[in-house]
Amino acid sequence: MSLRELQRIAREGGTPVVVVDHAVIRRNYAAFRRHLPRVQVYYAVKANPEAAIIRTLYRAGASFDVASLPEFMLVYEYIRDLAPGEQQAFIWDKIIYANPIKPRETLEALDRYKPLVTYDNLEELRKIKAYAPHAGVVLRLRVPNTGSLVELSSKFGCDPAEAVALVKAALDLGLGVEGLSFHVGSQCTNFENFVQALNMASAVLNESRSRGHAIPILDIGGGFPARYHRDVPSVAVLARKINHEIDRLFPKDIQIIAEPGRSLVATAATAVARVIGKARRDGRPCYYIDDSVYHTFSGIIFDHGRYPLQAFREGPREICAVFGQTCDGLDTLSLSEELPDLEIGDLVYAKNIGAYGSASATRFNGFAPARVVHIHE
Ligand SMILES: *Cc1c(COP(=O)(O)O)cnc(C)c1O
Repeated sequence: MSLRELQRIAREGGTPVVVVDHAVIRRNYAAFRRHLPRVQVYYAVKANPEAAIIRTLYRAGASFDVASLPEFMLVYEYIRDLAPGEQQAFIWDKIIYANPIKPRETLEALDRYKPLVTYDNLEELRKIKAYAPHAGVVLRLRVPNTGSLVELSSKFGCDPAEAVALVKAALDLGLGVEGLSFHVGSQCTNFENFVQALNMASAVLNESRSRGHAIPILDIGGGFPARYHRDVPSVAVLARKINHEIDRLFPKDIQIIAEPGRSLVATAATAVARVIGKARRDGRPCYYIDDSVYHTFSGIIFDHGRYPLQAFREGPREICAVFGQTCDGLDTLSLSEELPDLEIGDLVYAKNIGAYGSASATRFNGFAPARVVHIHE
């Protein structure tokens, strides 16, 4: 999307605004499929749950990874409404519910859809049996998350040594074990995490098969890195490693799926905000904009993100601080941004803010989340 287009959108409809470019989403999806042809994509809706994004990815051929009942219903109802009146008899090929911990009420509500759900412990398995006995289950393994931006291995995943026993426990309860999954941590740039995880998963699948239970699905999770800057290796480099391991370790009859979130949407959105205040403190220019870390820039807090601000105006740059619109001190976008001298009313923008940005925006301090504009749908 061009700078001129961003300015036009901000001028016409006002700020703060997040502009989502669907041509970029389609390109990211196509690149993923091209580089990992054996892997079906289940887009992780929590990265950005905009209905328009679900539509674009569905049309491109994607399936979906949901992690709450509202996310499940969002996708389910979208698919159902495409074919009204038609009962969605089999949804595993379109939706996986990949949150290993689920409230009883959620399981109860999901059961009628015969969902595919993940688990990583015995308590959860008993709960699934009691409240969603028609579910198929996928066991989540704990795998190394070394060096990933967001670490998940202390929160989810069974010890690999317990995995085969947990498969057996599910079978003993009369539940079908349909898959094995893992997540290497979000924004994983240490590709050895994937290599190790694939080898661990292969060992579990082999042992389980040798005991008479073949598990048909391998779910390699999310974590595929977004190219926030040039030094992030491309999908192509990671795909070479993954393809090599999956061809070596997993027979062709094992269906392989992945749950990329960030890598499909991060680079597709740009935030545009307006300078609403200006001061000089301790000799340094300070700008206040009409967005905040409680809103579009929430990834700074929740996602360890960095979203460098850029000006549309030219001019000599100076180190400055940029703050959000709220009255909280935590609401600091940057203490060392390099921007030209800006006037109140000027626009600034930040790229690569499509994942875990507006998705985790709040209404703190009475400010509504930014408007979202979709282009090239
Ligand atoms: C959040 C999440 C994802 C998406 O992860 P990304 O790092 O954004 O690709 C995938 N699977 C599960 C289970 C998740 O919780």
